[in-house]
Amino acid sequence: MKKILAILLAAALAVPLAACSSQQSEKNGGQAETKSEQPENTGAQAETDRETIYQVALLQSLTQGYYDGIIKVSELRQHGDIGIGTFEGVNGEMIVLDGTVYQALGDGTVQTAADDETVPFSNVTFFDKDGSTELSNINDVNALKEKLNEIVEQNGKNLFYFVKMSGTFEKMNVRSELKQEKPYKTLDKALETDQREFNYDNIAGTVVALYCPDYMNGLNTPGWHFHFISDDKTKGGHLLDLQFAKATAEYDATPEFDMCLTDNGDFQKMELSKDVSGAIKKVETNEE
Ligand SMILES: [Zn+2]
Repeated sequence: MKKILAILLAAALAVPLAACSSQQSEKNGGQAETKSEQPENTGAQAETDRETIYQVALLQSLTQGYYDGIIKVSELRQHGDIGIGTFEGVNGEMIVLDGTVYQALGDGTVQTAADDETVPFSNVTFFDKDGSTELSNINDVNALKEKLNEIVEQNGKNLFYFVKMSGTFEKMNVRSELKQEKPYKTLDKALETDQREFNYDNIAGTVVALYCPDYMNGLNTPGWHFHFISDDKTKGGHLLDLQFAKATAEYDATPEFDMCLTDNGDFQKMELSKDVSGAIKKVETNEE
């Protein structure tokens, strides 16, 4: 945490497009390649990148139906070993855990995502534990949020947090969705017909959670976003509700933010300042 405090959030609005340029060059058939102006990754640079939340596009672009992949899974893995997100065509929920990118599909199965699978939205970081807390007798997802908010209150509400919470969960309610075909519907419309929910009892696994600060409501959604994967890596998805007697939550407070966008014409036409917070709440929680 000492190191964290020394680093300012000033880089928050820097948007290094160079981070995504290799993928874009490939999409343009290798033509008009732009040379990266970023310095080579030195050891020191790599060290600071561990304290960065790396975000692909915006939750707002995903919610409005931009499901085209922006970077490859192989590239995403260079920016973190823990995370959440989805895949091209919203083909399942993404859980990144211990450096592996898992794809929890709409049919309830889980696979390791192929390196050349692409990603329209994700948040990842390198998990460096800053602390942990024991949780007990959590009866629903709102109770979990309240307990995890204590971590945020103690460490600072204007940082990002990733939480890794392992345990055996008496109840676990997750969802995924079927792959969408073009022309893409908005995410709330797609989920109305193509969301699939799964309920598991007494399942051992890990909840991967991201906390975004309040000021992130134009780029993501403030508060907690949970995904889950079972220990045997056969079940998982976007977490809607849960219940458990005991679990350990480890957290990583993160003070930097880096965002990857695309020069794709459809993306450039989107009105990304449009308020889609109602639709986001609906897709995140199933609540109107
Ligand atoms: Zn999710």
